[in-house]
Amino acid sequence: MAKIIENLAQIQVNIDQAKERSNYGQPVQIIAVTKEVDVARTAEAIDAGLLHLGENRPEGLLVKREAIQQFANWHYIGSLQTRKVKQVINEIDYLHSLDRLSLAEEIEKRAQHVVKCFVQVNVSGEESKHGLTAEETIDFLHSLANMTKIEVVGLMTMAPYSDNKELIRSVFRNLKKLQQEVVALKLPYAPCTELSMGMSNDYEIAVEEGATFVRIGTALVG
Ligand SMILES: *Cc1c(COP(=O)(O)O)cnc(C)c1O
Repeated sequence: MAKIIENLAQIQVNIDQAKERSNYGQPVQIIAVTKEVDVARTAEAIDAGLLHLGENRPEGLLVKREAIQQFANWHYIGSLQTRKVKQVINEIDYLHSLDRLSLAEEIEKRAQHVVKCFVQVNVSGEESKHGLTAEETIDFLHSLANMTKIEVVGLMTMAPYSDNKELIRSVFRNLKKLQQEVVALKLPYAPCTELSMGMSNDYEIAVEEGATFVRIGTALVG
């Protein structure tokens, strides 16, 4: 396995170059997706300066939270079953997979602090993917009006797994458009300034299209 610090240096160069090609001049935060690696490798990521970590299962998140004492921001990036909310919601800083009212209601009931959430959007409409359609997203946001524990900081999507770069780009571009529509609503609980998009294979395209959080596993810690 390559040293994380070396992977990170290369990824950072790629991100900086992609930012120069972007029209948005946005800050970009790397989330190190540690779901496939153990506690030691996760600690190595933190030592390399990666202070945003992503997990997609309650078990993995809780084991690492318990074992790792250093400060980090924990992101839950997987689909979250309603009955698992109480286990994880007070252990995380960001949730990237808010995709239904029943989940929002359970968060409202269990969270002891305001949770920064991304609404997950299935831009590509692939059946295998979680998330709301673009059309459903605005109505869903309005339905969160009375929730006190949810702040919608942004939108999240996953591009199709494909070699077709223009297809991937169109997905990210559509999420950016939707984000701008949400921002224009000026909902106090949904500033929606962030875009969580881009993984090992497509983070440069995502940054070019306005990503502010990229979620990188394999290329960084794998
Ligand atoms: C696994 C995962 C990632 C990271 O994927 P890589 O291809 O390993 O970079 C990003 N986002 C989500 C939602 C994931 O499940």
